[in-house]
Amino acid sequence: MGYADFYRRSIEDRDAFWAEQAKLVDWETPPATICDASRPPFYRWFAGGRTNLCHNAVDRHLAQRADQAALIYVSTETGQEKVYTFRELHAEVQRMAAVLATLGVGRGDRVLVYMPMIPEAVFAMLACARLGAIHSVVFGGFASVSLASRIEDATPKVVVSADAGSRGGKVVPYKPLLDESIRLSQHKPGAVLLVDRKLAPMEKVAGRDHDWATLADRHQRTQVPCAWLDATDISYTLYTSGTTGRPKGVQRDVGGYAVALAASMKHIFLGKPGETYFSTSDIGWVVGHSYIVYGPLIAGMATILYEGLPIRPDAGIWWNLVEKYKVASMFSAPTAVRVLKKQDPAFLKKHDLSSLKALFLAGEPLDEPTARWISDGLGVPIIDNYWQTESGWPILTVANGIEKKASKFGSPGVPMYGFDVRLVHESTGEELTGAGQKGVVVLEGPTPPGFMQTVWRDDERFVQTYWSSIPGRQVYSTFDWGIRDEDGYFYILGRTDDVINVAGHRLGTREIEESISGHPNIAEVAVVGVADPLKGQVAMAFAVVKDASALVDDKARLKLEGEVMKVVDDTLGAVARPARVRFVTVLPKTRSGKLLRRAIQAVCEGRDPGDLTTIEDPAALQQIKDLVAS
Ligand code: AMP
Repeated sequence: MGYADFYRRSIEDRDAFWAEQAKLVDWETPPATICDASRPPFYRWFAGGRTNLCHNAVDRHLAQRADQAALIYVSTETGQEKVYTFRELHAEVQRMAAVLATLGVGRGDRVLVYMPMIPEAVFAMLACARLGAIHSVVFGGFASVSLASRIEDATPKVVVSADAGSRGGKVVPYKPLLDESIRLSQHKPGAVLLVDRKLAPMEKVAGRDHDWATLADRHQRTQVPCAWLDATDISYTLYTSGTTGRPKGVQRDVGGYAVALAASMKHIFLGKPGETYFSTSDIGWVVGHSYIVYGPLIAGMATILYEGLPIRPDAGIWWNLVEKYKVASMFSAPTAVRVLKKQDPAFLKKHDLSSLKALFLAGEPLDEPTARWISDGLGVPIIDNYWQTESGWPILTVANGIEKKASKFGSPGVPMYGFDVRLVHESTGEELTGAGQKGVVVLEGPTPPGFMQTVWRDDERFVQTYWSSIPGRQVYSTFDWGIRDEDGYFYILGRTDDVINVAGHRLGTREIEESISGHPNIAEVAVVGVADPLKGQVAMAFAVVKDASALVDDKARLKLEGEVMKVVDDTLGAVARPARVRFVTVLPKTRSGKLLRRAIQAVCEGRDPGDLTTIEDPAALQQIKDLVAS
């Protein structure tokens, strides 16, 4: 079957199509209905079915591949390298599940995972899945205020963490950050489970903090069966940035997610049991959830968990791993490739990469020079894929597992099966069907399996945020601009909202503004995303101070700039730190007081700021122009 027919079936004969895909996973009880679309936009997949993600990722492989590699851990930060077979992974996950159960974790309870890239993080996620607990992984680079807001929202029974992470050889202590965030949070978790890597000293809080190694020792052989969960139960929440400072917990189900991942591994990622998959993402992001942990394991593949930089000890480290572990499919982000592109290209030629079938890239726009450079260097197809935390798996790409289709530079590809992708006019909601017409990329319901169920504890926000932004239509907005060419390939042209994308990390500019406003001398601030050759975009801040005497000379300005950056580091984490903080006496606004972020952004990028008839004070934009030029 060609892809066009495959796709058409997924939309027009939805239930039959997904009933077939559902056979790719094990069910304790097969689903009674396939798609329950009776209460849009809350679509329920595989209702009546009972399954378990951990069973599908681990237990079901024991019969056939118990002694094959499942989890390959490589840390160039600590020099550790360890391979866990499916049998060993099964034992480790049960130990973790037993420990979590003794700490009171049961079905439906939340467990917040704030961990570096170590095997215990994967054990914790799978152990939650096993018990039917809901995990909420928070990226290890987040600072205490961000972490506190997530603890408050998820109200976890247990937090799983470690003494420290490590980046570029520098130890990043986690425990003091975690303690501070629990102090800030109104919700106090009953227990904290700590993996001691012996990288940084840890002070334990009596009665609350527990040592993983000590508790795990007591459960060497404890067996913890998989809890059979309803397909529509919650597997996890994962926080993502939007236009307000309050993080949104993207909530996902069990059965739909299992089916979506199993199908994508086959049709998109070309994954075969026994092969090795290498995703360079972090477990704190959606790619890490779907394609470091669950996807490859569900497919019976070995998955590489890599802690370290792409250029340390040298720029050949990833290719070294591809050769050593015979990686078949690899997944990374354009920024990482741009980092490698600055290194000696000889590193690409030093290793035997014959096992590699394709390199998948996602998270941000893939520019043509980067795509060509890596494609020429590796000699394998480079497959861009466009998706979001919300979708859980690719919305646009090419499904080479169904039919080999050429990728086009600059385009992530065509709509994936199950995704009814449309382009609509931002303010009229009119559908744009012609080639080359620019519109908002939206999805017509039902959204496919694996797609977010709702915003955790906030159905209203789910509807209001995602399904109500296009006038006259209830469609899901991706908040991305796009166009489609005459062959049906989509091109993504950037966000329609205030979200920016720095090195593949999604950040809300409002969130950064709120953080900067926390500095006692900042009266007002505007943050915009500005094009950057390496990171895609960087955040740029323009601030008005309360007391101008803090800006007497360049030295004083730099000092204040440093202080503001530290506030961002401390509240949101270094990922959100603006590249520059510039000081102005007034910010460009409309007469009604709305910040003209798009005009600021245009000026920063040397573009025409467009229609300025509504601007209150044109001199405000001139100040920014002068600063950028200086
Ligand atoms: P996140 O939820 O953090 O994965 O961010 C999702 C956003 O990243 C999307 O809404 C897009 O703005 C952007 N994005 C992800 N993948 C791509 C891609 N392949 N091409 C262009 N933009 C992308």
